[in-house]
Amino acid sequence: MTDRMEFPVKVRKAAYDRSGGICECGCGVPFGKERVEYDHDIPAYHGGKPTLENCRALRWSCHKVKTAQDMQAIKKTRRIIKKQRGLTAQKATIPGSKNSHFKKKLDGTVIKR
Ligand SMILES: [Zn+2]
Repeated sequence: MTDRMEFPVKVRKAAYDRSGGICECGCGVPFGKERVEYDHDIPAYHGGKPTLENCRALRWSCHKVKTAQDMQAIKKTRRIIKKQRGLTAQKATIPGSKNSHFKKKLDGTVIKR
């Protein structure tokens, strides 16, 4: 959750060499003419470091999918942190429920609890 660190050129080059020209997501498709992108296996938001161990050379189309999945996990983490810190909006009380300040009696009169 600190500032995001991109992969240095040296790490990107090493990841590219390691890939052997094949996408490292597991799809086994060669890069071909598609743009190669470098993915944080553990997202930077979750403490992933810009090291070769955390770097994967992916085809652009595979990286797009991986990033969408990561963003879901990151958004969930943000929601949990917000809840833990008590920063979520207060839920509205349903009128007439036991949590509201008023009570409606059977004859229709409304009294304060
Ligand atoms: Zn792939």
